[in-house]
Amino acid sequence: MDIASDSLDVGGGGASLGQGSPSGHAAPPVARTFLDSLIDAGILIPTGVDGIYGRSRVYEAIAEGMDALITEIGADQQAEMMRFPPTTPRNDFEDSEYLKSFPQLAGIVHSFCGNDHEHFRLVARLERGEDWTDQLRPTRVVLTPAACYPVYPVLARRGPLPPEGRVVDVFSYCFRHEPSIEPTRMQMFRMREYVRLGTPEQILAFRQMWIERGQKLADDLEVPHTLDLANDPFFGRGGKLVADNQRDLKLKFELLIPVNDGAPPTACMSFNYHVDHFSTVWPLRTADGEKAHTGCAAFGIDRLTLALLRNHGLDLSGWPRGVRALLGGI
Ligand code: ATP
Ligand code: ZN
Repeated sequence: MDIASDSLDVGGGGASLGQGSPSGHAAPPVARTFLDSLIDAGILIPTGVDGIYGRSRVYEAIAEGMDALITEIGADQQAEMMRFPPTTPRNDFEDSEYLKSFPQLAGIVHSFCGNDHEHFRLVARLERGEDWTDQLRPTRVVLTPAACYPVYPVLARRGPLPPEGRVVDVFSYCFRHEPSIEPTRMQMFRMREYVRLGTPEQILAFRQMWIERGQKLADDLEVPHTLDLANDPFFGRGGKLVADNQRDLKLKFELLIPVNDGAPPTACMSFNYHVDHFSTVWPLRTADGEKAHTGCAAFGIDRLTLALLRNHGLDLSGWPRGVRALLGGI
């Protein structure tokens, strides 16, 4: 499929980054952000809410090419593929302790559950421009915060793992309540993961292998990258201790790629070792009856798409041929 021409003349915007007015007027060029240029080129479609965007055909072609490439890289994993809608049962979410660690990011689905009288009150408040949201109640589902979350309770119900453990392949739109004007920090974005369940040795070997595969992927995509130790944004004062501990134990590594204007590079992949967190919450056991350990290699499909657009330009016809070929000939 050749869609390079789609990225031209869309929305009337210029296609190159950080460029001011080419008109030659005396006025200094207006500084345009990467987000501005994506919107001007019609690649991201603003909705009026920070971090929630529509995506164009060019953007989707890159994102789908990236997902297919990750499938190819993981073809030897004999992973069980699982695809869930972007929701998680609320009871599993409560059990996962997400609200202890990241209450600021959570998204709970609410709905109206009242009677005619209460409905009348809801509509009246809406019409008067008053707050109506206290008329809603939480449903039994939450928005999935990371693609691997629905997997653990499902596997725990199946009984002990086989001796070789398991690898699961997941993909989901994920929600995190972190509105931002940095295009890489979205409120809904896609995450592709390979999740490993087994012994500590199995998880650590898996994580090392995927760190190396992630670095090779970034090399093949011809984007600058570095690997760094990282921590998750645990909430509050207690959270700082947990984050420090996560770093001391080297539980999380990120592969970073420069994307945003004047900002440090962005985490586009992460390689995580959860130790026995999920087998403490759910009865995930190895074949020997020990608590299973878990880990995951997570690829931010949207961040990788943005990283390519940032580093190779908004016009696909100017991209390195090898990169276009790797993404399925976009
Ligand atoms: P950050 O440190 O930037 O908050 P993270 O590395 O902690 O993100 P993970 O929880 O490890 O995020 O999620 C796995 C991957 O999902 C990340 O490497 C990133 O590519 C992607 N991701 C995380 N948060 C966002 C977001 N708000 N918008 C887009 N992609 C995201
Ligand atoms: Zn994960």
